Amino acid sequence: MTRKWVYLSRSAGEELTETLGHKPDLSEMKNIFGGKGAGLADMTGAGLPVPPSFTITTEACVEYMKTGEFPPGMWEQTLKALKEIERRTGRRFGDPENPLLVSVRSGARVSMPGMMDTVLNLGLNDETRASLAQLTDNEWFSYDAYRRFITMFSDIVMGLDREHFEKLLGELKKKEGVKTDPEVSLEGMKGLVGQYKALYREHFGQDFPTDPYKQLELAIKAVFASWNGARAIAYREFNKIPHDWGTAVNVCTMVFGNLGERSGTGVAFTRDPATGERRLYGEYLENAQGEDVVAGIRTPLKIAQLQEVMPDIYEQFVRVTQQLEHHYRDVQDVEFTVERGKLWMLQTRTGKRTAAAAVKAAMDMAREGLLTREEAVMRVKPEEVDQLLHPFFDPQAKLSAEKRGDLLAEGLDASPGAGTGIVIFDADRAIELAGQGQAIILVRPETSPDDVPGMLVSKGVLTQHGGMTSHAAVVARGNNLPCVAGCEDISVDVERNQFTVKATGRVVEEGDVISIDGGTGEVFWGALNTLEVEYEEQQDLIELLSWADEVRTLGVRTNADLPRDARRARQFGAEGIGLCRTEHMFFDPRARDAVVHMIMAETDEERHAALDEMLPFQEQDFEGVFEAMDGLPVIMRLIDPPMHEFLPAREELIEEVTRLRCTDPGSPELPKKEKMLQVVNSMWEVNPMMGLRGCRAGIMYRGLTEMQTRAYFQAACRCARRGIKVVPEVMIPLVGHVNELRLEREKLETVAKQVMKEEGIEVEYMFGTMIEIPRAALTAGEIAQYADFFSFGTNDLTQMTFGYSRDDAEGKFLIKYVDGFDTGEVDTEGRPVLFKILEVNPFQTLDEVGVGRLVELCVKEGREAKPDLEIGICGEHGGDPASIDFCHRVGLDYVSCSPFRVPVARLAAAQATLRHASAEG
Ligand code: ADP
Ligand code: MG
Ligand code: MG
Repeated sequence: MTRKWVYLSRSAGEELTETLGHKPDLSEMKNIFGGKGAGLADMTGAGLPVPPSFTITTEACVEYMKTGEFPPGMWEQTLKALKEIERRTGRRFGDPENPLLVSVRSGARVSMPGMMDTVLNLGLNDETRASLAQLTDNEWFSYDAYRRFITMFSDIVMGLDREHFEKLLGELKKKEGVKTDPEVSLEGMKGLVGQYKALYREHFGQDFPTDPYKQLELAIKAVFASWNGARAIAYREFNKIPHDWGTAVNVCTMVFGNLGERSGTGVAFTRDPATGERRLYGEYLENAQGEDVVAGIRTPLKIAQLQEVMPDIYEQFVRVTQQLEHHYRDVQDVEFTVERGKLWMLQTRTGKRTAAAAVKAAMDMAREGLLTREEAVMRVKPEEVDQLLHPFFDPQAKLSAEKRGDLLAEGLDASPGAGTGIVIFDADRAIELAGQGQAIILVRPETSPDDVPGMLVSKGVLTQHGGMTSHAAVVARGNNLPCVAGCEDISVDVERNQFTVKATGRVVEEGDVISIDGGTGEVFWGALNTLEVEYEEQQDLIELLSWADEVRTLGVRTNADLPRDARRARQFGAEGIGLCRTEHMFFDPRARDAVVHMIMAETDEERHAALDEMLPFQEQDFEGVFEAMDGLPVIMRLIDPPMHEFLPAREELIEEVTRLRCTDPGSPELPKKEKMLQVVNSMWEVNPMMGLRGCRAGIMYRGLTEMQTRAYFQAACRCARRGIKVVPEVMIPLVGHVNELRLEREKLETVAKQVMKEEGIEVEYMFGTMIEIPRAALTAGEIAQYADFFSFGTNDLTQMTFGYSRDDAEGKFLIKYVDGFDTGEVDTEGRPVLFKILEVNPFQTLDEVGVGRLVELCVKEGREAKPDLEIGICGEHGGDPASIDFCHRVGLDYVSCSPFRVPVARLAAAQATLRHASAEG
């Protein structure tokens, strides 16, 4: 039996059920019929007015790509489907009396630029044109349809650019002294068709094909072939779409929007795609066909104005769009045509919308009863929440910029936010001009660590090369800076201080103003109006997140060092602090001298004096954090970085000492500097990240962590006395052996008890450890005996499990690992084969296979040893949705992330719960 390649839209669902042996879901329909074909089948099945159509499957395309021939039986099935359409319409393909005309439309699983455009009015030749004129009683229309068909067929199927045809039309309009196409005279149109045919003959050395079956065959082949067109391939490469999906071909009975005043064509969204507001949003153009609406030749009507022109049609259209929303339970983007007062639906798909619209539409649909609360929670992407917490461009401003042709290019949405400023190509120049108060967009082919200071003073960063893990992307995300990376639409010339938009040749020079949207990857010419909505004002978002809170089982805490950040995070819904780094407080210039004295101390007295100086700074900051977190737990991590980070840089000291010795040997500064250099030299480490840091520093520098613990518990007790509910937790970092923890814990718990006794108040507290060394994870059972809680420090754990030094890897070899290596081989289509060592950057998304295995083992053995062990994560992965899903699956108690990621994490945690509840249930 030959395979089934062709499905009639009106019975596609049932027929596919037969083929598959089960009822297909929406995604199976899309896989086989493409998005457009599935939509046509769905709409037809629901009884909506769709012109009779059929779909040739994506599978047929896959076969065609292998052999260059239609697969056996496909053409016969196509002819049979055509017969069925003839029967339904009462017209016949190629019939000189009553001809059937069709459109041939491509449609892959996801809509994809670079795929073949639609050919309308297929089936026309001199004879069928004449009968079309008779049947419609409109000769002008018949020529208009014919000249459009010749243009589209020549351009799209045969590859003769439509410009040549447009030029002749332009000359004709000029000659007749008219502005728009419908004003051209009948004689003019007639003459034009003759010119078009001559042009075709001249170019191809043969007549325009008059046999409709030949036209159809060529058009279908052209759609199939367009799957492997250069533009389509490039798009798939970029968007990681598999090359073996293929595209379907849809053949639809033509309906005509260009049959006079009661005809027209339009596009609409069921809700406003910018705001999510529930109202039809779109445009309608009278007496027009196909893409005339978007081409912008004449000004279309707002969709609401259709109500005045054709109230009955408008009403029907509203009903249809509502039905579609009910069916798909999502915002739809539809295309339709009105032919002499009759509505025809031609396409429906999920509408692309802004993050704000996604939230509003989901919440409204839940309130309307279209979605359950859980579905609404699943509907919004965590990254969309992230976008809502950053400044963004006024959607109206974006739209008009796009219409003006000021959308210059698109790259990767590497770090969200909107940035506007003058273009600068050099980091030092950026620093100089930013110092004068200029807003800067730093544009580079790619960035390196040398560019970081320039990046940090800029309003945004744009790079030509590099992916989501490129240096620019990583640095920008870490600093809340908008970034568009990998923007290959432009070519940056730093020698000449300019970049060129490849497609148009437009040149942007130093000092020109551009706007970049890091949430979408768009780059605009000029300054776009920027908006910012405070989180507190986003009622829908707040409510959505409250629904997420009802669902999720994972707690969400924040990483915050300062009272200000703690307050912000609490507004965002943080349920405590998972990581309060204490070293930030020491970088305060006031505290820094004391730290230096402590490190350089030679006697116990000197050291204690220095520690006494440090204590008030710590205590004061801790009090602020406890106040902000009244009633919620606060995890204070004891000092962690290598101690020499608090001292001046070695190179600078060497330089100064050398200079003083040469120029001013008697200077009283010299012996001081020499002493400092001596200390710095003695502390110098080959690999400081694995040197004297974390609990090792606490153990070796006597008195240091005792002082921190004292400051922490004094702050806790004093706050408690003021009626603030405190839940202090002390975290001992970088433990690799149980005895390190045991030693520190016993020492520090004594201090805690001592302080509580002095202060005359008891508070509940915990001592725990960070799990960030593989050995700690592997010996979790032992370690748990001295820990009330574990918190995974997955930055270090990833670093040490992979054996990558993060600072050396990211932005350097790790980019290549993720982007892939050219193997020198090419695949069957001639594309280079890339070998990727890593699918994703493990510092961004937790490596489940390796690092995750340690986490799992640690959770299991830790809880076996101590069932009520509290376990969380405080590495950056705690704010990454995919990693949060993993944390949910391994049963952590909470994730902790930076304040701005808290809302993102709340939603991601709820989605993880729902995802796995439905997978299990
Ligand atoms: P795209 O994938 O670019 O959206 P479509 O296949 O939807 O391409 O075709 C573009 C436009 O052509 C449609 O919006 C519609 O206006 C017009 N069109 C396509 N098929 C038909 C048809 N059978 N009758 C009338 N107009 C059609
Ligand atoms: Mg379309
Ligand atoms: Mg660490």
